[in-house]
Order: sequence, then structure tokens, then C-alpha cells
Amino acid sequence: MNFSRFPLALTIMVSSLVSMIKAQDNPIAVTDSQPEPEETIVALEDDGSRVAVLGYHVFHATQPATQMRIPTAKFRTQMETIKNSNVPVITLAQFLAWRSGESELPPQSILITMDDGWRSVYHEAFPIMKELQLPFTLFLYKNYVGTNRGSRALSLAMIREMVGSDLCTIGSHSVSHPFPSKVKKAAKAGPEAYEKFIRTELGDSKKFLDENFKTNVTTYAYPGGYHTDEMFPIADEFGYDHLFTVKPGKIRRDSNRHTLPRYIVLGNHDGAFNAAMVFRNGARVAGVPVTLPHPVKPGSGDIIASRLPTIKVDLSAVENLDPESVVMKVAGFGTVPLLVDPETRIYQWTVIRPLRQPMSEVTTQWRLKDKESYEPVMRWSFRIDHEATYQAQ
Ligand SMILES: [Zn+2]
Repeated sequence: MNFSRFPLALTIMVSSLVSMIKAQDNPIAVTDSQPEPEETIVALEDDGSRVAVLGYHVFHATQPATQMRIPTAKFRTQMETIKNSNVPVITLAQFLAWRSGESELPPQSILITMDDGWRSVYHEAFPIMKELQLPFTLFLYKNYVGTNRGSRALSLAMIREMVGSDLCTIGSHSVSHPFPSKVKKAAKAGPEAYEKFIRTELGDSKKFLDENFKTNVTTYAYPGGYHTDEMFPIADEFGYDHLFTVKPGKIRRDSNRHTLPRYIVLGNHDGAFNAAMVFRNGARVAGVPVTLPHPVKPGSGDIIASRLPTIKVDLSAVENLDPESVVMKVAGFGTVPLLVDPETRIYQWTVIRPLRQPMSEVTTQWRLKDKESYEPVMRWSFRIDHEATYQAQ
């Protein structure tokens, strides 16, 4: 799971070493007062993979749920659902390596984040993450965890222990956790004052985290998701490669790195969590199967051993079906030629080359006789158990 942490760190070290050497080798460029061109982060093309980022805050074993506070038992259920779905929970390093083109991700994966630095992360969430071996990222704000004020914030020792477990990575969440009203007020004070304000929030928080946790923070979660254009160049300057909002949505490889979507999971409402679990084409993660109006095979959420399955849809219950109108699409194959048994009205297609992706998505649509438009599309996905496939060979 943590394979790419060290290679990535190494890459960053090597590339900064290279630019140091370059600067020494090339005194003209330096005296010319032409700044060494910043390493431009080129947005790569969409590769079809999608990442759902979940954001949590406070956990509690007994107190009732609020927006910010999720009961520990509910959090456990969510983590177990994810674990059982076999959609991988990736490390921040894996996410960053994918974004920069250094490595690939499966079509669907999940990144778990926790904001602010509440002490309950350590007491309630961390044991579950350890037990299920799920990596997570803490977005910490300096004035909370750095002061040890009160007993509700994580202590530096707790954070160090979690980072030491190799499950936990650190990102920045500002210095003072300014709410939008405070940011807007700072902006009104004029461009210079606003720049200073942003520099402090972004720069001092990174410095604090890097020094205290011997890390190189390159990610930032905007407090309350609030951001303005003035923040972007300053974030770049401080080495923040990826900045997260609270706008729900999946991250693609070509998503704007300054405004990455994230699902904030509320303690008292399941909407965001459920939305995060539905990936493109409406296919839910396996293990969270959808109920379909007509029988299909392999079924929604099924795990199968064959990489060359026959996909079947039973449309015998559709009244007035126009038998010629049935269209099936399979991810990676497009529209496929269907065979139909007119007696049973079972439509089927056998996969012609081995399915390579762990998850296969299928859609089927049809029209009723004398109708112009198609009936609502039926979508589902099933999964290939690659281990079983290899054993069978
Ligand atoms: Zn926050």
C-alpha cells in the first residue's frame, strides 16, 4: 500500500538536487537575474481513473451525531464497507504519483482525509484504520495542534505516532483556520495586506508541519473549502502541488490541482458518503450493489473468476419490448453484438478478450414498441477475482 511513498520523496529530492546543480553549473542564468523556471506541473490527460476523497472531522463513541461529529460505530461501518468493496484506499503518495504520471491507479479508488487535528482521530479513528490497515491523511492547522491548548486537539506526540505507523500522511489546513468572513476581510484590506495574510496561512503552516513531522507537505485543504485566485500563485511558490476544496466530486487525472473536489462526510447525514461510493456510469463500488429492475448475470457487485464471462440480461418481464432496440455497452468494448433467445428474451454476449480491469461496467438500454425514446438505462458492475483467475491457469 505504501510502496510509492519513498520513491516519490526520492524523486522530489533528486529533482531539487538537479535544479541546485543546474543553478551552479549555469552562473549566467543566475546573474542574468532570470529566475530558474519553476518546475511546471503539467496537467496530464484523463486516463479514466477516478478518486473519491472523503473528509472527516470529529469522532465520538457515545455522543450523538452532528454535521462535524460522526459516531465511531458509523465510521467503522463506512470503513468496513469500503474495505469489503475492494476498491482500494490509496495513500496520499499513491495519489500524488498518479497525478504526476509516475504510476497508475485502478479505475476507482478512495483517499481518506481528516481535517483540523481533533484528538478523537487518535482515540477513535486511528484504531480502526490500524485494524483495517487503511491509510489516511491529516490536514492539520497550526494554531490547533501546535499549541496543545485544551485537550481536544491532537498532541504532537500522537501525530508523530500516527505518521510513524506509515498509515498517516500530513497535509496543511492553514495556520489559524480562517473562516471565509475573515479571509474576505483580509482581502478588503488591500492586495499587499491580503498577500501577507495568505503567505502566513500557507507558508507558516507548511514550515511548522515540515519541521515538526520531518516531512515535505505538498497538499493543502482550504478551511471551509474557501479559496480565491490570489492563493494559487502563492501556493505554487510554497510547493503546494494539490489543494482540496469541499465541493463534492471525483478527482480525475486532469482535474484542476488548485481546486480539487472532496466529499465532506457529515456525521448526521449519509448523502455525501453514498455519493462518494457511486463512481462513473452510476456503477456503485462492488459490495455496495445496486438493485436492478431485471435479472442480470454476472449480477451487480458479483465477484467472478472468469475473465471471459458471458453477460446476460433477462428482459422477459419487459412488456411491449421492441426486441430490435436492445443495446448493451461494456466498458472497454463499447456497444457489443447481442445474441437473443426469442423464447426466453435473454440477451447475451460473451466477452471476446480477457477483461483486464478489476471492475467491469455494463449498461443496457431498450425501447418499447411505438416509443421514440429509450427506457431508463440499467447500469451495473461486477468484479474479476484476479487471484482466482491466476490460480485457474
Ligand atoms: Zn477545518
